[in-house]
Amino acid sequence: MVDYAAHFNNLYRARRDPWNYADSVYETRKYDATLAALTRPRYASALEAGCSVGVLAEQPLSIDIVALAVERMMQRSLQSGHAIRLTSEEKEVAHVHPGLSLPCPPKDLPSADECAAMDDAIDRALLARNVSGKAGIAASVLRDGRVIATGENEVQLQHDPTKHAEMVAISRAAAILQVTDLSGCVMISTLQPCEMCLSAMRFAGIARLVFAATQANVAPKYFVFPHLRIEDFQHDANFVAIGGVAEARILHLYATGNE
Ligand SMILES: [Zn+2]
Repeated sequence: MVDYAAHFNNLYRARRDPWNYADSVYETRKYDATLAALTRPRYASALEAGCSVGVLAEQPLSIDIVALAVERMMQRSLQSGHAIRLTSEEKEVAHVHPGLSLPCPPKDLPSADECAAMDDAIDRALLARNVSGKAGIAASVLRDGRVIATGENEVQLQHDPTKHAEMVAISRAAAILQVTDLSGCVMISTLQPCEMCLSAMRFAGIARLVFAATQANVAPKYFVFPHLRIEDFQHDANFVAIGGVAEARILHLYATGNE
């Protein structure tokens, strides 16, 4: 049986950079495209499968059958004060090779932060339904990729028909920031927002919306003006609404209207 680990360890012993990754135009382009598609330049922790470089995380967790490759990646991370210098080096290599065109992350896909916020919102919706007297609908407001306010549907709890999850989250975000203009913020909701919440978003200047369950798949009771579409509430051409994110996790609550 071939001992792949020994083979690659020998390669790493013989040459510090066996495939010239540090000077490779292809690798530089690959990393630049990856970094450009991510929502942050680095992350607090990350799992790197195959770890000869290691540029994305402050505390990388790595999988590699080559012990030397792991050791060297860790050394780079420590020397550079959590790998940021290596990121700069990669950028410098890119500078040496002009003509690289870096793709912008697509606007119509949810970012990693938005997906994480959606996961959290769905967890809160499921929890709210079971234990708190709130309905199982949850929302969050994000700014710069971070959740700054959350809310669940408190209509029954507070005897207030305006306390939809999105309305609660908007009120809290505005109060926390001490502003009425939430331009640049992102709304996350486990259910496609109703006409009241879309209106409130517009009044607040929120032009990016990520939601899970879509109108086409849920009970009709959630929408009282079914002829209105999300697009009717958009501010301008920059308005983006992304529906169906993680819908399968939560749709069972809304399909029958028994949230
Ligand atoms: Zn609503």
